[in-house]
Amino acid sequence: MEFLNRIFIFVIGLVFGSFFNVLIYRTPRGLSIIRPGSFCPHCQKSIKFYDNIPLISFILLFGRCRFCKKPISLRYPIVELLTGLIFLFSYERFNFSPKTILFIFLLSALLIIFFIDWEFQIIPDWLNYPGILLGFLFNIEKFPFFSLYGIIAGMGSLFLLRAIWLILRKKEAIGGGDIKMAGFLGSYLGYKNVLFTIFLGALLGLIIFLILIAIRKRKIKDYIPFGSFLAISTIINLFFGEHIFYWYLNLFKR
Ligand SMILES: [Zn+2]
Repeated sequence: MEFLNRIFIFVIGLVFGSFFNVLIYRTPRGLSIIRPGSFCPHCQKSIKFYDNIPLISFILLFGRCRFCKKPISLRYPIVELLTGLIFLFSYERFNFSPKTILFIFLLSALLIIFFIDWEFQIIPDWLNYPGILLGFLFNIEKFPFFSLYGIIAGMGSLFLLRAIWLILRKKEAIGGGDIKMAGFLGSYLGYKNVLFTIFLGALLGLIIFLILIAIRKRKIKDYIPFGSFLAISTIINLFFGEHIFYWYLNLFKR
């Protein structure tokens, strides 16, 4: 039974992942998420339901459109697979409970933000605002101060980073979306973890950005998709936070 439960949860995740792909492609382009049905971005032909089965269709079609044979973005199976794993992992952690859904929301939002911010430099408000509220529910046993302090710490530290950047570079580097996202993360993670996440995200962003400049993929004046790096650092913190913390403490031991 337990095994069947896991399969069921994973498949539901794949289906949601398929929908997340629609959100990632359409919302930043201002397209309706309901109509029309799925279509190939190259030849515009509509995709039949049997070519639209999460993961499986991508494999059967060898990653190419049935009509024009142009490659289908790898993002599609990746998002589907990761969403399946998000559902499975959340179930493993919280079983069937309200927390499972709230945790799925957090991880799914990070996945969607990662791809949209990377390509469009937008962090959608339709994820940030519900996220801020759902964080309070996620931490209901410590209501309301755990989330409240988290929001203040998250948003406050980004305001500060923005101010410092403005003085140093005379240029906007951190947008309103980043600040709201930090509030969302703070509401879920609390002030200690959100500060660590922001620090880690900034460090990660800086390192990757310098590498991209070194190999001439980006220019120094290009925009840094900070939301994407925050998404990665949140995941690192959620999964490996304690290990990193103890590793860091051990640096000071003999
Ligand atoms: Zn096509």
